[in-house]
Parts: sequence; structure tokens; C-alpha cells
Amino acid sequence: MSLSWAVLDMLFSRTCEGCGAAMGEESGSLCWDCRAEVKPVQVPFCERCGDPVAGAVVGPFECAWCHKTEPAFDWARSAVRYEGAAKTCLRRFKYNAGMWMLDDLTDWLVALWRTCPESVHTADFLACVPLHPARERERGYNQAALLGDRLAIHVGIPFQRRLLWRRKATETQTHLTAAQRAHNVKGVFSVPWPNRVRGARIVLVDDVMTTGATVNECARALKAAGASSVMVLTVARG
Ligand SMILES: [Zn+2]
Ligand SMILES: [Zn+2]
Repeated sequence: MSLSWAVLDMLFSRTCEGCGAAMGEESGSLCWDCRAEVKPVQVPFCERCGDPVAGAVVGPFECAWCHKTEPAFDWARSAVRYEGAAKTCLRRFKYNAGMWMLDDLTDWLVALWRTCPESVHTADFLACVPLHPARERERGYNQAALLGDRLAIHVGIPFQRRLLWRRKATETQTHLTAAQRAHNVKGVFSVPWPNRVRGARIVLVDDVMTTGATVNECARALKAAGASSVMVLTVARG
């Protein structure tokens, strides 16, 4: 190999985001093995919040959380399980400015979109879970806004980036229990221009849904401002 080829090879050789192995012909950020490991969220799952359950379930059902909480969103669905290579990708995308993963993550959302009912395909616009301005300045971007913006281009529905406002910067929720998460985000979101929301059918986009507390609080604010429906789509489900 000539020196120039060796340099080019060094500069442009890619490694898999999931396992670190050298990549060959694969497009995107995961090798074939890691890609095969990514698990789509499949039935059976809760009709309302999309949380998958293990084992056999006969007919549509609602999970205990939905039964108890009566969520403000109409329903929620996620593309993949938040584990393995998918989790590694999403964490790098969110915390380490892994912009090169945006195409893969959008592909998963688009695949999910195709399985959604007509009510999603005919929504008025897409919105995203907002970051507090201080947090967004610190990170340099809002990962949910990047996903919403990219999905909007694919599906041809307008994306309204500033529909929701985050009034305070909440602490990271990673180590909190479900009840603590719900308390942590209570009343945190508001709708600065309610006239944009009144009567609208909105698809809310986020990267990961864990307990559902954050998207539920966003949906509560949107419904309080007069949204007629709020459907939630996330890349992954924890
Ligand atoms: Zn890999
Ligand atoms: Zn549920």
C-alpha cells in the first residue's frame, strides 16, 4: 500500500459504534452483527403507551402504569429496545455529539412511522421534547429536535421546534425511580403560543422513553393548551 493510501485508510477507516470493530461495506454506524442485535419493539405491548411485555397476551391490553396514570397522550410507540448497540448509539448521540448516528436513528423512526395508523400520517405537525435553554447551550443541540427535524423531512409534515417550553432545568433522571421522575418533571413544560396548538393533532418526538413521565408531562401541557391529540414517537423504549 502506498503511503497516501495508508494515510487515507487511517483517516477514513470507520469503526462500529456498537462494538468498535472495523467496518467494511456496511453503511451507517453499526456493523452487521450489532445491527442484527438491535431489537425492534414488537407485540405484545400496551395499547396505550407501547411498553412491551414478556409472554403471551390475548387481545389488546393496557399496562398497570397506564391504568393508574391515565396518560395525557393518546398513545405512544417506540422503534427499538433501549439496550445493546441501540443504547450505545443513543447515548453517544445524546451525550457525545454523535451526529453521524442521526441517519441510523432517523431510519428507525421512519420504519416505525410506516407502521403507524392514519391518524399519525395526517397529523398537523411534529413537535419535540424541549431542553432547558441552559442545558441546550451547554450541550450545543437538542437531540430530540434533531430527530424531529429529520423525521419531518422524511414524512413531509411540518416540524414546530418551539412549540413547548421547558421552564426549569431538571436534574438527570437516569437514577430516579418512576415516582421521582414524575415528580421531577411536574409542571415543567408550558406552551408559549397556545393559539398554535389549539385543535391541533400533534406527534411528539423524543429519543428515549423510559417511564413515560417526561412525554406525559409534555402531552399534559399540549392538551391543556387545547391540542386535540398528542401521539408520541420515540426511537427507543427503556
Ligand atoms: Zn458492531
Ligand atoms: Zn401502558
